[in-house]
Amino acid sequence: MEIPFFKEIKIGGYMLKQKLLGRKRFPLVLMLEPLFRCNLACAGCGKIDYPDAILNRRMTAQECWDAAEECGAPMVAIPGGEPLIHKEIGEIVKGLVARKKFVSLCTNALLLEKKLHLFEPSPYLFFSVHLDGLRDHHDKSVCQDGVFDRAVSAIKAAKAKGFTVNVNATIFDNHPAEEIAKFLDFCNEIGVGVSLSPGYAYERAPDQEHFLNRQNTKNLFRDVFARGKGKKWNFIHSGLFLDFLAGNQSYECTPWGMPARNIFGWQKPCYLLGEGYAKTFKELMDTTDWDTYGTGKYEKCADCMAHCGYEPTAALDAVKHPLRAMKVALFGVKTSGPMASEIDLSKQRPAQYIFAEQVQKKLSDIRRDEAAAAVQKKASTAA
Ligand code: SF4
Ligand code: SF4
Repeated sequence: MEIPFFKEIKIGGYMLKQKLLGRKRFPLVLMLEPLFRCNLACAGCGKIDYPDAILNRRMTAQECWDAAEECGAPMVAIPGGEPLIHKEIGEIVKGLVARKKFVSLCTNALLLEKKLHLFEPSPYLFFSVHLDGLRDHHDKSVCQDGVFDRAVSAIKAAKAKGFTVNVNATIFDNHPAEEIAKFLDFCNEIGVGVSLSPGYAYERAPDQEHFLNRQNTKNLFRDVFARGKGKKWNFIHSGLFLDFLAGNQSYECTPWGMPARNIFGWQKPCYLLGEGYAKTFKELMDTTDWDTYGTGKYEKCADCMAHCGYEPTAALDAVKHPLRAMKVALFGVKTSGPMASEIDLSKQRPAQYIFAEQVQKKLSDIRRDEAAAAVQKKASTAA
């Protein structure tokens, strides 16, 4: 199901409305993580290193719908963990679509064919299948043989049933430009749009050796885009975000553009960094010290060029400078010549490490809730 411009027009209209209302900060995409449990253990993943008590927790369907309404973003991306493990995922998606939210269900696709019957094709629903590259590269990236073939089979099955399917690829420094270009050709062949993002250097990811720094990211993307001249690769990014990846824009991130809600609460400051949690979306927006995050301000942000931080910046820039956006659309991304100036890192504040403390607090909360539930159950059985 192809829906050219429908989503873009609605999201563009939403952004213009926020601007006209004079709102300084507003969300574009809710990153909804209803669980952290996954059926893979990828080397570059920083999302699943939790004790079982936390991996076994789920947001309820009602909590997911409440989060979408509370936040108000026109689009909801559901990453994880693996969302298809969630027993209520069909209901969750149905409820979000009924609320006219664009839903991007991110999945490694191992369960997709088996669970397609839980969903109905809709202009509001997209599957975003995790595919980091061609067969050998992807299977190595997800640390399991055969995943690429199963993902591609699921993509074809979903498309045959009328669903819109995109793929999302995380790029690390062990992926040559030539291979990425072949992967993009392959995506064209199977008829899927592509989202690309340099991997964020998660402190809890098992593989700490292959994250790209900013200069290498820009060089690599220039090389990739130069190989795409004359081809019609179907990126589902704004042109200005691609221009940023190629080193032609000096952007600061917009962490509030894609706020994250998971079993801990509303994550501060962004989907990639968990530096504390707020109970409500309003509390997240009002109490996060936004000016202390971003490249040049905080050590953990030094190399970040990830799409969830900078796609909102590019989208806002396109609204503010339509001619700039039009130039990239007409002439493509510049792949040679001087790059835009880089952000100075000399004054960034040092990293804080609070992961263990947060996990401990959540485990205490879980034990307290379980004890209270047991007492209540005993009381009701006795009565
Ligand atoms: S499929 Fe996604 S959530 Fe699961 S381990 Fe890999 S990167 Fe992490
Ligand atoms: S640079 Fe921005 S988007 Fe990236 S980790 Fe830091 S706060 Fe998050």
